[in-house]
Amino acid sequence: MITVTLLGTGSPLPDPHRAGPATLVQAAGEHYLVDAGRGVLMRLAAAGVPVGQLTAVLLTHLHSDHLTDLNDVITSHWISTFEPTPLRVFGPPGTGLVVEHLLAGLEPDIGYRLAHHDDLTGPPVVEVTELTESDGFTVRDGAAVRIVAAPTDHRPVEPSVAFRFEHGGASVVTAGDTVPCPTLDALCANAGALVHTVIRKDVIAAIPIPRLQDTLDYHSSPEEAATTAARARVGTLILTHYVPAFPPSATDQRDAWRALAAAHFDGRIEVGDDLHRIEIQGA
Ligand SMILES: [Zn+2]
Ligand SMILES: [Zn+2]
Repeated sequence: MITVTLLGTGSPLPDPHRAGPATLVQAAGEHYLVDAGRGVLMRLAAAGVPVGQLTAVLLTHLHSDHLTDLNDVITSHWISTFEPTPLRVFGPPGTGLVVEHLLAGLEPDIGYRLAHHDDLTGPPVVEVTELTESDGFTVRDGAAVRIVAAPTDHRPVEPSVAFRFEHGGASVVTAGDTVPCPTLDALCANAGALVHTVIRKDVIAAIPIPRLQDTLDYHSSPEEAATTAARARVGTLILTHYVPAFPPSATDQRDAWRALAAAHFDGRIEVGDDLHRIEIQGA
C-alpha cells in the first residue's frame, strides 16, 4: 500500500487555508516529500512525520511556489538529526544550483549554529541528484520504494519531471505542473493513482488580468488531468494546486471541481484540503 497526503493544496497565491504545493508519499516506512511549497513543515508536522525522518525530497520543477520552503527543510533537517545525515534531493537539472544558492544564503545561520552547538560538527549535507528521466531507481541502497521519472511539459519552464512511486504492487504518479503529454501518459500507465496539479481554466480565462491569463497555456485543467488519467487507465485521480482556491467549507465548489473531472474520467476522484490522505492498495 502507498499512502498519499496532500500537504499543501495551494498555489503561488497566498491563502489562509492552503499551504503551497507539496505532497507526501509514504510506503514501507519511507517518507517521500514531493515539492516543498509555503508552509510545508507545518503540514509535515501535522502529518506526523519529523523532518529528520524524510527519506528524500523530490522536486517536480524549479518554480518558486514549489520550493519556497526548501531552505526550511534543509535547515530543520540539519538541526534535528543528531549524527551527520544527508538530505537527499532529486529534481530536474538546475536543482544543484538552487541548493547551492540556498546554502549560500543560509551561511550566517550555519555559522551561528556551528559556533553555538558543540555537538553540531559540520554544515548541512545535501546530496542532489539531477534527472529528467529514469527507468527506475531507489534513493538509497536498501530502500523499498522504486521510483521512475519522466519528463513533463510545463514549457517555458523546463525541464520539469513527474515521478512514479512503486511498492508492493501499488503505484502512484505525482505529475506536478504540466499540460497533457505522451511521456506523462506513459509514466501513468495503469497506475493506482495520479496526483495532478490543476487550475480552473474556465474561471481564469474570464479574469482580464494578463499575468493570470499567462498561466493558462502551461497548466492542466481538471478536464485535461482527467483525460490523462482516463487514457492511462489510472485508478484514482487526485487533484491539487487549486487555482483559484476555494474555502475548505465550500463543498459546492469542491463538487464543481470534481464534476469537471468526472465528465472525462470514471474512476475515483479525490479533491481535498491540506492533509487529505488517500490510501492506494496494491494490485
Ligand atoms: Zn509551475
Ligand atoms: Zn505550480
